[in-house]
Parts: sequence; C-alpha cells; structure tokens
Amino acid sequence: MKVKLVIKRDFCKSCGFCIHFCPKNVLKLDNNLNKLGVLPVCVDDESKCIGCGQCALMCPEACIEIYKEE
Ligand code: SF4
Ligand code: SF4
Repeated sequence: MKVKLVIKRDFCKSCGFCIHFCPKNVLKLDNNLNKLGVLPVCVDDESKCIGCGQCALMCPEACIEIYKEE
C-alpha cells in the first residue's frame, strides 16, 4: 500500500502534535515560514508512512489529509 500525505501548510500553527504522535517519524518542521508566520509541518519521508491516521486525528486545524493507494 502506498500512502500520499497532503498537508495544508498555510493552516498549520506549528503545534507539533502530529510530529509527536506519528509512530514512524514521517513528519518534521519545514525550514520556511507559512502565511501564519510559523514553521509548518512537512513530510520528511513519506515512504515510512503506514497510513495509521494518527497525525490527521491529532491535528486541531485539520491540516492533514491521507490518501491510500492499493
Ligand atoms: S498516517 Fe501515521 S505514519 Fe503516516 S504520517 Fe500520519 S501518524 Fe505518521
Ligand atoms: S498537528 Fe496540525 S497544526 Fe499542529 S503541527 Fe501538525 S499539521 Fe500543524
């Protein structure tokens, strides 16, 4: 199964919940500020993602969407 992560970077407030709760260390903070003036989350290594959905579940801003391809 291949997983595609889509992050709405301009809505991310950099709380870090998704990074903290990801069991596979897929996510990290970007190096460039978003429109809110904070460092948003980005994908570090998508190939490690197991599509568990924890990141999307924890995000208070609903910034993360997960698409699974069989
Ligand atoms: S779906 Fe699971 S493994 Fe993939 S980035 Fe989110 S928390 Fe990490
Ligand atoms: S949980 Fe949502 S708002 Fe918080 S850092 Fe992750 S993507 Fe950004």
